[in-house]
Amino acid sequence: MSEPLRRVFERLIENTGPVSIAHYMAESNARYYDSRDPLGRDGDFVTAPEISQMFGELLGLWLADLWMRAGRPAPVHYVELGPGRGTLARDALKAARRFGLETRPHFVEASTALKAAQLELHPDAVWHADLSTLPTSGALLIVANEFLDALPVRQIVRAAAGWRERMVGLVDGALTPVVGARPMDAAVPSAYADAPEGAIIETCPAAAAVVYEVAGRLAAQGGAALFIDYGHAEPRLGSTLQAVRAHRMVDPFAAPGEADLTAHVDFAALAAIAQSRGARWLGTVEQGRFLRLLGIEARAEALIASAPDQAEAVLAARDRLIGEGQMGALFKVMGLAAAEWPDGAGF
Ligand code: SAH
Repeated sequence: MSEPLRRVFERLIENTGPVSIAHYMAESNARYYDSRDPLGRDGDFVTAPEISQMFGELLGLWLADLWMRAGRPAPVHYVELGPGRGTLARDALKAARRFGLETRPHFVEASTALKAAQLELHPDAVWHADLSTLPTSGALLIVANEFLDALPVRQIVRAAAGWRERMVGLVDGALTPVVGARPMDAAVPSAYADAPEGAIIETCPAAAAVVYEVAGRLAAQGGAALFIDYGHAEPRLGSTLQAVRAHRMVDPFAAPGEADLTAHVDFAALAAIAQSRGARWLGTVEQGRFLRLLGIEARAEALIASAPDQAEAVLAARDRLIGEGQMGALFKVMGLAAAEWPDGAGF
């Protein structure tokens, strides 16, 4: 067993002072994901592809439909960012194959434990540590579900004396958010100049970098991308950093590396970055609406017709994916495409 990450942070902070929220989140999630498969009932959280095959199938159909209407360009590569157990890729590729879209999956994955799980379902996959080594020729069909929310956010907080970076320090021996010393006023957009004391601006430079790269690749190589995550369509103030362990919200500072740290995705900021790189923003919509327009109701009926004893489970899964109070409204789907590619269904 390696030393608990909490001890590592305590020592670091004792010796060199507080660390930024971004540093804290990056190190915590690197440790968390590398050491385990967090998905499923026995794990910490359940994702849409693990709820039902309908999720991956409908995304696969979305990709195949767009690819066909783009004139079936070849070569074409399926790319998934943070593919978890590989379940979404399995369901999506199976659905896409029925329309003649055969591709070898490319996975961007950092976790040793999850890579092993992905290998079982996808012995032919190609793994990448980041996006830079993805194929440079051929259209890219990119999917990222609950990937951006795991990337480290940076927070700036309005203190009495001005804006400061929000840090993690030690208060009475416990890891605790504190206000940093260095002035950050120059980093604050003028729209927030009058924000009250305590206001927090959260940004995710790592997510911005991913979307910048994806959009540039789409513009240069053709293709489309779907980013699915919980988040807000419009920017807002406040911290959304949260931790989940064993399906419960826990204190993000209590046990770094032992809980999943996430933050809401700022889709408006990401859409602007994609467009600035020459990609087309197809829209950002609620997951419930998107899956309904893609035909989740009909797909559920078909599954029930072929296995009537599963009816209750299929309907419960459908409701979890599209229900207003469940994943349907909190989760958003953002679509991007190359400028010359057609519009996507569901937006
Ligand atoms: N998409 C999957 C898993 C979501 S969990 C699903 O929906 O079930 C987040 C995924 O992103 C995991 O596979 C995790 O290992 C991966 N991940 C998190 N941070 C990463 C990073 N910085 N680089 C690459 N992969 C990362």
